[in-house]
Amino acid sequence: MKKTPRPSRTTSARRTPSVAAPTPKYIFVVGGVMSGVGKGVTASSIACVLQARGLRVTALKIDPYINVDAGTMNPTEHGEVFVLREGLETDQDMGNYERFLNLDLPAKNYMTTGSVYLSVIKKERNLEYGGKNVEVVPDIPLEVIRRIKTAAQDAIADVALIEVGGTVGEYQNILFLEAIRMMKQEAPADVVTVMVSYLPVPGSIGEMKTKPTQTAARTLNSAGVFADMIIARSSVPVDDKRKAKIATFCNVRQENVISAPDVESIYDIPINFEKDNLSQRLCELLGLPAKGQADLGAWKRFVAKQKAAKVNSKQEVTIAVVGKYFTTGDFVLSDVYLSVIESIKYSAYALGLKPTIVYRSSVDFTDKKRCKELDAYDGILVPGGFGATGIPGKLNVIEYARTKKIPYFGICYGMQLAVLEFAKNVLGLKQASTEEIDPKAKDLVVHIMDEQREKIAHSDLGGTMRLGEYPAVLAAGSLARSAYKSAEIIERHRHRYEINNDYVPALRDRGVVFSGTSPDGRLMEIMELSRETHPFFVGTQFHPEFLARPLRPHPLFTAFVKAAYEEGK
Ligand code: GLN
Repeated sequence: MKKTPRPSRTTSARRTPSVAAPTPKYIFVVGGVMSGVGKGVTASSIACVLQARGLRVTALKIDPYINVDAGTMNPTEHGEVFVLREGLETDQDMGNYERFLNLDLPAKNYMTTGSVYLSVIKKERNLEYGGKNVEVVPDIPLEVIRRIKTAAQDAIADVALIEVGGTVGEYQNILFLEAIRMMKQEAPADVVTVMVSYLPVPGSIGEMKTKPTQTAARTLNSAGVFADMIIARSSVPVDDKRKAKIATFCNVRQENVISAPDVESIYDIPINFEKDNLSQRLCELLGLPAKGQADLGAWKRFVAKQKAAKVNSKQEVTIAVVGKYFTTGDFVLSDVYLSVIESIKYSAYALGLKPTIVYRSSVDFTDKKRCKELDAYDGILVPGGFGATGIPGKLNVIEYARTKKIPYFGICYGMQLAVLEFAKNVLGLKQASTEEIDPKAKDLVVHIMDEQREKIAHSDLGGTMRLGEYPAVLAAGSLARSAYKSAEIIERHRHRYEINNDYVPALRDRGVVFSGTSPDGRLMEIMELSRETHPFFVGTQFHPEFLARPLRPHPLFTAFVKAAYEEGK
């Protein structure tokens, strides 16, 4: 199916006229010492406070993998795969940027080592290098620079923020550091480098140590790049003594050492940064108008709602997310479902409710008797997924939610499995399955989409699912229609399988309402049970979580959380 062409949106949610210089400025964010210290949310928060100054901001992420996109990586390796509106499968940080900036980002704002090499090699094969010897340096950094500049210019950005994945000193991001060096050398006034570094406070000493950050700064220097600002991540605030030390030994001005202690909520970070005048400092470094303050009014109202909801012990809502990618060794991962979890929170905060989100592994429910444990939750959500692991458990959970009338929200696989459960247990099609798990099953209630069959046959598996934005029309009188308050919607997708239309009449007869379909009626995009039979039972073939934002909670999540709260009272 062809995508409907859509008018392009502005890159910035703010439509204020640009207050900045005619050419884009570039802020690179690199990591020092170690990963996992929140470089992505730090970069998003920097972008957020600059946008709040009325600047037009866009954000890019560079990942140092050979994978051409994030779509082929196991979520337990890499975290959530975030799908952009054009359908590119990217890193979860792109989701953070979209949420913190409240805007849709184009596919050109994401690149990996693999995608950069792929385009250089394609160009070489097309003789676009005019017979020249194509070399890792400078041709790879030049391609990186070309992409960054194109993204900034196409966004008509005052500032483009570029996060370089990984940590300085890693062999695999050296070519991206080389791109920074070359850009800075070409236009020193337009490029600023921010190093997000970690300062440990070893329990045995109880003192914050700056040495790893000094070493990271030197490592960055050895690539020819000098930090203009250091964001000092630590468990506690950085005192003036350590700031002075970092300034002296890392060669930055003391006021450009910004303290970033652990916070209760990531949404506090932009507000904390402004207490340290971060946006003003960056504007000064970039030669942008630095007077005045960032207007974080709407953001602060969201954070205030969040804080009020969190202490509201009278109005709680407990949602179980039943997935399969929760554990790695002894650790629990919630990153894989990051957007889903944030979406639940935004809706709960908007409703003035305190959300408690419980991660449950579907494998636990393979034993049907354990489904009783689900009584503890006000609502159950089964998110997207792939493959056969944990499926019997998910089907048991869905059956329990349906028959015990616990509000249920199924996303993508969570919708396909809800239809499958209904076919098995209500239509009595005991052999029903999805082609993904059992291609030989008698009743393939969920089957592969026509356009996907060939791709699988040719092992053409990277970036070839039904991806990105597609429109759907909503049935009058449905739950979905009343939640969206609209007859037509556009949502982001990521799947290969679909509901088999041969079974749709029988499913409809027994009470499944296909309340959202593709405009031509061929693809079932939303299923629900009528309000007379169930308080809230909705499944979507698309991923609404990719469109939920702090300042714009998603209507379906809000309807689900509201129903869960009301039923749980
Ligand atoms: N595995 C299913 C499909 O490919 C669902 C995908 C998903 O949940 N994102 O159709």
